[in-house]
Amino acid sequence: MKFALVDGIRQEATTGVRGSCPGCGSPTLAKCGLKRLHHWAHISTAVCDRWWEQETEWHRAWKNLFPTQWQEVRHVAIDGEVHIADVKTASGTVIEFQHSEITPQERGSREAFYDSMIWIVDGTRFKRDLSSFREALLNAPPVGAETDARSWLLFDRAAVIIERWRGSKRPVFLDFGDAEFPLAWMPSTGVLWWLSYTLRGRVIATPVHRQSVVDHILSGTSIRGFGRPMPPMSRRSGRPRF
Ligand SMILES: [Zn+2]
Repeated sequence: MKFALVDGIRQEATTGVRGSCPGCGSPTLAKCGLKRLHHWAHISTAVCDRWWEQETEWHRAWKNLFPTQWQEVRHVAIDGEVHIADVKTASGTVIEFQHSEITPQERGSREAFYDSMIWIVDGTRFKRDLSSFREALLNAPPVGAETDARSWLLFDRAAVIIERWRGSKRPVFLDFGDAEFPLAWMPSTGVLWWLSYTLRGRVIATPVHRQSVVDHILSGTSIRGFGRPMPPMSRRSGRPRF
């Protein structure tokens, strides 16, 4: 974790300091080596939040785009279950940055637990994800009427990464980093792919400006695709709202 409590105050890890876990209250030790990101680890092997995944540079870079008080926020359900959200906005929307694989069951649990949430997925984690996604786009019809931005309608098994996230009921944004797509109008950096799953085994894939997603989370401004402006989306259904 990036933050632990030291004398009751949220702090980043500094060498030799002990703190306590904001999730479970057990003692943590600052890990400030050269190989991994500076972070806090539980002193015992206890894992208090079974949803927590080891933080990568990718996670940390995303989290740092948001105010520190929004990062790693403890969330308690009515039944007492505790999880730490990667980012939770002032209005209560949770942003989860997902690098490793996640089972459909666990994904469903998190969507139910957080309710209003957005997934941002590391599209560079598995080798075949990008190539199969590109290939699927080549064979897919563009969507005109359903959204105002350029997008494609795909089967929800059309590519490995699309199939892995099928059934998701929240907005999913794929982050392929600076990967290039053979589309003349698309910039080579700053793009995310917004996947919106429909009930009929299809998904709408829409490239959007990455910064507009960040701004949307920060201040509620519209997410911008390429073409005409996008309508605001519903954070519950993950679909554009008209
Ligand atoms: Zn803990």
